[in-house]
Amino acid sequence: TGELEHDRIDALLKEAHERYADVDEGLLAHYIPILGQADPNLFGIAMSHVGGSVHTVGDCSHLFSIQSISKMFVYALVVQEHGREVVRDRIGVNNTGMPFNSVMAVELNNGLPMNPMVNAGAIATTSLMPGKTAAKKWENVREGLSAFAGRSLSLDDEVYHSESLANERNKALGHLLKSYGRLDGDPYDAVDVYTKQCSLNINAHDLAIMGATLADGGVNPVTGKRVVDADVCRDTLATVASNGLYERSGEWLFEIGIPAKSGVSGGIVAVAPGKGAIGAFSPPLDMAGNSVRAQLAIGQLSRAMGLNLFASA
Ligand code: GLN
Repeated sequence: TGELEHDRIDALLKEAHERYADVDEGLLAHYIPILGQADPNLFGIAMSHVGGSVHTVGDCSHLFSIQSISKMFVYALVVQEHGREVVRDRIGVNNTGMPFNSVMAVELNNGLPMNPMVNAGAIATTSLMPGKTAAKKWENVREGLSAFAGRSLSLDDEVYHSESLANERNKALGHLLKSYGRLDGDPYDAVDVYTKQCSLNINAHDLAIMGATLADGGVNPVTGKRVVDADVCRDTLATVASNGLYERSGEWLFEIGIPAKSGVSGGIVAVAPGKGAIGAFSPPLDMAGNSVRAQLAIGQLSRAMGLNLFASA
């Protein structure tokens, strides 16, 4: 029956890929110049079980920068380090209802970034990473995210340089947070480490395993190594559920019913606690910055596999 189940999953992934490969909606993220050069036809879907088996279809080995998906894994590392209450007080857990790079969201809430999945909250979260220097924090981010993926991840230099020349807004957010006492250390350093973390290269296969590590209570299903505690996974997934797709998070939860996090290079990871995770990648984005094809594919698979957390049957 195990084999049958595997064949069925392969068939479902293939079906979702075929069904949405020709969808011609969405736009590339041009505000980071190099992301505007991505091939809009790329499309890969991967699924990893908490048991460690991985299924893939399409462009699952194509490397892309992780972008905002890094936020959920850095948040998990920071909660593991400081505990949930310290991080909750500093960052918050509520949805902003505004775009991911909003300055207004910070201003309206007296400097509380509101949640760790938008840029302001993520920059403040990164500043809480263990390490006395920015270089050490970066090393810990890279090593921590590599542990989630089960392989050594590396920086995409081109993306890092492209974004570093175009991140004035994030630098402004860093300084604004500093002015409210919500950022540790130098704001430029925090934004630089944040920009590097967003420029780590991954593929859809990595995404599925990273997500499955959170589904598996913090143990990487492929390496068998513990990355964070089960409580940290629970808190991370709750935060991802309410904020992972920014101002579209409510609609996503209503329609699909599992936590998912997106990034502007076109990746989305969706996590079914105790079961596994789906990683999908395709560069064209909707207006909130979420991959159009990845949302459609994950939605379809979630329905077909009965992953909605709110469904009683
Ligand atoms: N690095 C990007 C930024 O800061 C990440 C945004 C995203 O993926 N939504 O703008």
